[in-house]
Amino acid sequence: MTESQIKDNIKKIKEQLPAQVNLIAVSKFHDEGSIMAAYEQGQRAFGESYENELTPKALHLPDDIEWHFIGHLQTKKVRKITPYIHMIHSVDSLKLLTEIEKQAAKHNRVVEVLLELRIAKEETKSGLAPHECRELLESGEWRVYDHVKICGIMMMASFVDDETQIRNEMLQAEEFFNLVKKDFFYDKDYFRHRSWGMSDDYPIAIECGATMIRIGTHIFGERDYR
Ligand SMILES: *Cc1c(COP(=O)(O)O)cnc(C)c1O
Repeated sequence: MTESQIKDNIKKIKEQLPAQVNLIAVSKFHDEGSIMAAYEQGQRAFGESYENELTPKALHLPDDIEWHFIGHLQTKKVRKITPYIHMIHSVDSLKLLTEIEKQAAKHNRVVEVLLELRIAKEETKSGLAPHECRELLESGEWRVYDHVKICGIMMMASFVDDETQIRNEMLQAEEFFNLVKKDFFYDKDYFRHRSWGMSDDYPIAIECGATMIRIGTHIFGERDYR
């Protein structure tokens, strides 16, 4: 995509979004020039999946960018992203949550996180099964963590063409969000985010309660994985 196409894509997507839905521009495998084109169009929230790609970008690019980590995160990488990360969407264990708390405390920061829920039946999908997510919350340890704030739920629907299946998975995630909100976070206004929806399924995601959509291809074009 050229820089002007990127700007156009951002503009068109934003025009369709209801006020409560935030656009995360997924810039993995795209260069800093592409990110700056989106930035010049007013985009500030960017999503990346790999620490070794993200850290140099975060160093070079403007400080008012909000970086969102959306890929699988290894515990040993937490230390590297904590100084600058805004939100981690992919928390899938208590161990990871505890490490984020520990590293964020060192930097005297509060890192926002989402718990990644696994609803899709595909074996490749990561995240916590609903009962595992509940167990993590029931353990209660997160209640004493001052440097990590659980702000909601993230999920990825199956990669299928069947819109009914995608919608069912997103509605299951929305239902789970509502239960968890009631049981653990009813008095916490910040627990309100539902991160679902990518380039091919974001219109469905918006109908199913999403407050964050993570869009790469429809903004920046196909990724060249090499
Ligand atoms: C890469 C990625 C996206 C963006 O996918 P597109 O189909 O290019 O919009 C969204 N979410 C996650 C978790 C990703 O890894």
